[in-house]
This record gives sequence, structure tokens and C-alpha cells, in this order.
Amino acid sequence: MLAFDNLSLRYGSFLALDGVTMHAQEGELVVLLGANGAGKSSIFLTASGIHKAAGGSIRYGDKELVGMKPSQIVQTGVVQCPEGRKLFPGMSVLKNLTLGGYVHRRDPARCKRMLDEVLGLFPILAQKKDDPAGSLSGGQQQMVAIGRAMMGLPKVLLLDEPSLGLAPLVIKQMFEVIQRINQAGTTVLLAEQNAFAALKIAHRAYVIESGRIVMEGDPQTLLADDAIRKAYIGA
Ligand code: ATP
Repeated sequence: MLAFDNLSLRYGSFLALDGVTMHAQEGELVVLLGANGAGKSSIFLTASGIHKAAGGSIRYGDKELVGMKPSQIVQTGVVQCPEGRKLFPGMSVLKNLTLGGYVHRRDPARCKRMLDEVLGLFPILAQKKDDPAGSLSGGQQQMVAIGRAMMGLPKVLLLDEPSLGLAPLVIKQMFEVIQRINQAGTTVLLAEQNAFAALKIAHRAYVIESGRIVMEGDPQTLLADDAIRKAYIGA
């Protein structure tokens, strides 16, 4: 289980996360809903060791992630796919993917197996493996970003707004792939503004507002909640 307990984060004097407590059980697909600036990326960046928590803990199994270096966190099995993809646009698709497996470079057979799995999940990337990542469409670049995270051999995948800027049909395909990744055994924590599509594939969800978790529930309960519908679904 990945468990956040009373997590706080400051940017200077600004309290961006204020006592966040939430968890994802092994095998779950948990969605984190929130508007722009609510704190979703801050949670992920703290879990990945990019930002240092001001208080609280993030435990994965028996390991405390707060205080670990990002590379150590990847080695525990907690791997982030960042918002905005953050690819190396001039490098080939293949190079971008293999960089995701850098921490596991001493186990090339495992990296090769995962590369084959990623290319099976996203066959278009096999066709475009030698093209610069920056020349791909937005949806294909998002596939590279997810594939690169998969190359880190995640047990828990932190997906930050994978649908951002994509066309509706591409978003649908993206959510199908995320569901497949989860069904193949990877725990997924998915931050999204596209609430309807995300809740459709979620086991559970949290809502974050101004750095605080304000609601938790199963997707049906959240979809039936008027305030949630108004704020995130537009109905
Ligand atoms: P978005 O979808 O827009 O990325 P978010 O829910 O991921 O939103 P965060 O990026 O975590 O939100 O931002 C939470 C708050 O912290 C916002 O008010 C944001 O302006 C602020 N913030 C984020 N990063 C920094 C930073 N490096 N320095 C100062 N403030 C920051």
C-alpha cells in the first residue's frame, strides 16, 4: 500500500499541501480530482522526492519515502509520469523510453522485457521508435511518457494529468490503456481534471481543494454528488 499521512508541503511561506491523508491499496486504480492549482502535482512531486515535505509521511510498504532521493524512490517501485510529459524532444522515441529504465540498467534482460511490453501496449511507438519524440502527435508523446514511466518497472504508477491537451478520441484510448496497465497488476494513482472519464475507470477517488482532501468515495458516489458534478463534470 502507498499511504500519505498528514502530508504538508510549502513553497516558501505558501502552504500548498495541508495535511493530506490518502492511500492506494495494491492493485487499486485511485483517482485524484482537483481543479488547476489544487495541489495534485504537488502530491506527486513530493511522492517522487522532487519536493521535500514540510511534515507528515509517505509510506510504501515498510519504506518511508519522505527523505529518499528520487532515484531511490523509483527503485522502491513508485514511479511518476509527470504532467506535461517532459520528454526530450530531440531524442528518439527509443532513447526516451530506455532512459526510463536507467535505474535498472544492471538488469538489461528485465529492461528488454519491459520495452517489449511497452511496445506491445503502444504499437505505434514501435513504428516510430527512431523518430525524434518531439515530432510525434500529442497523444503519441503521452504514450512515450507513460511508456518511459513503465520502463522504471513501477509497482505504483503516479500519472499526472495524462489527458491534458488531447483530443476526445485519444483521451478515450489513453484511459483504456491506463485501465489495462492497472488490470495487469500495477497500482495506479491518477490525477485528473477530466473527472468523468477518470471516474469511469477508478476503484476509488479523492477530491483535493486548496491543498486539502475534501472528499473521498467510490466513483458512483462521487458521480452522483451534485457539487462534484457541478465543479468537475459540468452537469
Ligand atoms: P495543475 O493541474 O494546474 O498543475 P495542481 O492541482 O497540480 O494543478 P499544483 O501544481 O500542485 O496544483 O499547485 C498547487 C499550488 O502550489 C498552486 O497554487 C500553485 O500555484 C502552487 N505552486 C506549484 N508549484 C509551485 C512552485 N514551484 N513555487 C511556488 N508555488 C507553486
